[in-house]
Amino acid sequence: MGTATTVVHNCPVTGARDQSTGWAAGTLGEVLNPLLDLLLPVECGGCAVPGPLLCPDCAGLLGAPVRVYPPCCTAGPPVYALGTYRGRLRTALLAYKERGRRDLAAPLGAALASALLQLPSLDAQRRRAGVWLVPVPSRRVAAGRRGGQHMTVLARLAAASLAGAGVAAAVAPALRVAPGVRDSVGLAAAARQANLAGRVLPRRAGLPPAGTAVVLIDDVVTTGTTAAACATALLRTGTDVPAIVVLAAASCHAAS
Ligand SMILES: [Zn+2]
Repeated sequence: MGTATTVVHNCPVTGARDQSTGWAAGTLGEVLNPLLDLLLPVECGGCAVPGPLLCPDCAGLLGAPVRVYPPCCTAGPPVYALGTYRGRLRTALLAYKERGRRDLAAPLGAALASALLQLPSLDAQRRRAGVWLVPVPSRRVAAGRRGGQHMTVLARLAAASLAGAGVAAAVAPALRVAPGVRDSVGLAAAARQANLAGRVLPRRAGLPPAGTAVVLIDDVVTTGTTAAACATALLRTGTDVPAIVVLAAASCHAAS
């Protein structure tokens, strides 16, 4: 636990190999996690009721993708959210991201896959060509504190769910955050933009093949600064980005 592991997996779309740093996917984690599950009672990540990782009520807070309009994403690809960032969903996402509830990756990844199957931007032609998921990267410091890139883990689980549903999907860790970016929590939109300006960069080795559809995925959208910076970095490489999908949107930006 807490040690980043290197994961190499075959891409179901092209057969290419993707190597990046992920969470607890190594042999030690595979052995220890079920043992820990036996020792520690499981409770819902949203409301703490003993039972499933996400109880039906909390799981229901992640629904079909709804178009949202973050103020900094007016010019880029459409943004869709599965839920509103408040209450039990906020608690669950923070538990996954910041409080060590890595087991929540499974229900969150499955919810993401379900939403991707309903995405209007992802038409039948694009699905047949294969879907690439690009996780929004965390700052290196934050990823180090959390033990890895938490959105890459969700992207992998979502891609596996999509493959199970007959849609070829793969993860492209195509972006990185340059050093010098501060934590954006508490910063206003203009300060967030200045903080990120020119600092979300493509990883050439992680880019998907030209002409394939990429869905950018993140956990939370607030002002949309991060999503816009990531979309811009991808679009500059010539990558087609039909949609940005987030688990939750801050309530003031959620569609009614
Ligand atoms: Zn619950």
